[in-house]
Amino acid sequence: MRWLLGLLVLCLVAVGGLWVAAGRGTPPALEITKPDRAVGQKADLEVVATSPAGTLTNLNIVLEQHGTETALFSLADPQEASVTDLGDGRTKVVRPIGKTAIPALQEGPATIVVSATRKSLLGLRTLSSRASRDVQVRLAPPAVAVLSTHHYINHGGAEMVIYRATPADVTSGVRVGDIEYPGFPAVGAGITGGDPNLKVAFFALLHNQDLRTPIVAFARDDAGNEATASFIDNVFEKPFKKSQIPIDDRFLQRVVPDILAHSPEVSAPADDLLKGFLVANGEVRRLNAEKITQLTAATAPALLFKGPFIQLGNSKVEASFADDRTYVYEGKAIDRQTHLGFDLARTAHVEILAANDGKVLNASWLGIYGNCVIIDHGMGIASLYGHLSSIDVKVGDSVTRGQVIGRSGATGMAGGDHLHFTMLVHGQPVNPVEWWDSHWISDRIDRKLREAGASSVATGGQPSRPSPRATAGGPRRNKRAGRVQ
Ligand SMILES: [Zn+2]
Repeated sequence: MRWLLGLLVLCLVAVGGLWVAAGRGTPPALEITKPDRAVGQKADLEVVATSPAGTLTNLNIVLEQHGTETALFSLADPQEASVTDLGDGRTKVVRPIGKTAIPALQEGPATIVVSATRKSLLGLRTLSSRASRDVQVRLAPPAVAVLSTHHYINHGGAEMVIYRATPADVTSGVRVGDIEYPGFPAVGAGITGGDPNLKVAFFALLHNQDLRTPIVAFARDDAGNEATASFIDNVFEKPFKKSQIPIDDRFLQRVVPDILAHSPEVSAPADDLLKGFLVANGEVRRLNAEKITQLTAATAPALLFKGPFIQLGNSKVEASFADDRTYVYEGKAIDRQTHLGFDLARTAHVEILAANDGKVLNASWLGIYGNCVIIDHGMGIASLYGHLSSIDVKVGDSVTRGQVIGRSGATGMAGGDHLHFTMLVHGQPVNPVEWWDSHWISDRIDRKLREAGASSVATGGQPSRPSPRATAGGPRRNKRAGRVQ
């Protein structure tokens, strides 16, 4: 009898121990991945619950606002949510949470509450957890209104717009296809008058974007509400040249090992110069473009330049913007790239001048561009000088138009001494011909600033009437093939 009692006690202790142990198990882990902090007309709710496979007994999501609760999801009633098993016991729930999906949603604060339970000890015990996020419901859409007039853009070229975006904290700018160009407070362009919502944005229609690519000014709040405005009057097609670049062993020997030695982030066979060339012309070129975008993101929020940009004087144009190049080795086409700049040659080691006022963003080797200077001119505008033999400036230096910044050379992917020059809009190469043209600067930039009330036009050009054509008289052309990059 006593042993039976003993056994009973032992059993009770064991069961009790298991009960306690089961209660100490891990409850479901909950993560609200979206929305971040605001909900607008359209928004997504995304929740990830983690619990050992098959143990999740409930997952419940509600929205609390002004004392009322709106059910958004439960395992029994998933409504319009999509439920995905991510593996490792992770379950993802996604559903719309904006005003369009939840008509009861009102302007102001709200809380998303997620609760979940899982079974433990063969279903004898239940472990529960809860997570919540406070969000701001913003239903009034932002507004964007374009104030400047006569907007024309050339294929591969740039343009500027002045617009008003409200409320004050919206993200705004110009979107061309899927590329967004931020706007800057107009006071940085000399437009005083105290309207903090007035913005100036420079943007580009890239050489490789379709002529019909949608271009809009946009204003977007943190709840994802967006307003857009179309404003382009005309888009002009510009013919791009095709050219052939002969490559020989002497050229490969001179440029490839040097570029690869400066590019430890790529791998190429040391004993195959042609393969090395393809790596330099492809992967290194692509990495350089990324680096240029990173560097130019540090642009000043004000216009630093005045008037037209200067071109290397008395130079021969050996290659122009957006030439479609086929590289030929021993009679065979081995590669194809677009040349995104101008190649200008005069004599060896000629002085290279800053094309306009600005601040130095790069003054060192940059892949295929060899020794390279990049100057920020503010509001996303920059100029790039490649293949230099020497550099006379350093990062952070302020430079003035016409100041010597270095000497021409043949470093990087250069077949001979020349300057590779390009203009950049937020890191995207654009045709420099426009920026060399005083008429273009005067019409596209100065006129708009003056009409918007700029007290003294920051860029300093002469007034002129608007013109529907980008003239770009351009530099003297030369029939010879380019000097490579
Ligand atoms: Zn070039």
